Amino acid sequence: MTDAQPLHVAIDVRAGRTVLATVQGGRVIDMRRREHGAQPDATQLADDVAVLVDRAPGVVRGLAGIWRHGQRLGMADPADFGALVAAVGQQAALPTSWLPYGAALAVGEWQRVPCQGPLGVFALDVGMAGGVVIAGQAFAPLRLDLGHLSVDVNGLKCACGGRGCLHAYASETALQELSRDFEMSLEQPSAIDRQTIMSAHLAEMQRAGIGPTHVLTDRAGWAIGVAASRLQEAFGVVEVRVRTRHPELWQVLAPSAEAAVRQICGPRAPRFTPADPREDGFFVGAVAAVP
Ligand SMILES: [Zn+2]
Repeated sequence: MTDAQPLHVAIDVRAGRTVLATVQGGRVIDMRRREHGAQPDATQLADDVAVLVDRAPGVVRGLAGIWRHGQRLGMADPADFGALVAAVGQQAALPTSWLPYGAALAVGEWQRVPCQGPLGVFALDVGMAGGVVIAGQAFAPLRLDLGHLSVDVNGLKCACGGRGCLHAYASETALQELSRDFEMSLEQPSAIDRQTIMSAHLAEMQRAGIGPTHVLTDRAGWAIGVAASRLQEAFGVVEVRVRTRHPELWQVLAPSAEAAVRQICGPRAPRFTPADPREDGFFVGAVAAVP
């Protein structure tokens, strides 16, 4: 029997689909997906939760939501998302909590490999997000939006209205948009998962020595390095993990990120390590916040 460790269900609402996962002992043990329009229906999600609860090898203790605030998603307002998770929890008769996905990933990374001091985690995805974890707890998860941490007050304009946000330099969306300036072909393969091919392609072009890719990757890496230095200065972060869906993308960004953080922080520079490229961290971290 495996019912010694508590069981939870996490729900991750994305553009056009929701992924639900059962988590036990820091591992995803079951999953379920649902396609939908911009907004999922609480009753349908409660049905999906019920299926996972039935299949679970023990009593499910709670439900955790993962909030993604990309502008392409229907749940752009955190209050709407909180209400959805509460409605699903009520129908499923489970206590609920929720975290932004950057914070959920950061907690999940800590659970996977704890850190000797404060840990920073960046998720380089269609959008850029992240979180800071101190002694296993997410620091101000609803206020600390690392995707929009400014690395240059006079820098590139961001979709959020700010300037010099990390998102504007290092997100997959930014890399794709900036690539147009150099007439490179990093266009989206599909509306849903537009960067899956792009990231691998960028790494390939970099390896082949195609000049302008260095401008993109140097700038993105530099922005991640500056952001990491801000986390060191503000929180004493000793390690920064970066999650990319394609590990080879981090390999091309890492040299400029490391150079930037060493230049700014000197011997106090946090070390960079790759985060787990799988999705488990989002779910594992989210359920850790359920009361
Ligand atoms: Zn921004």
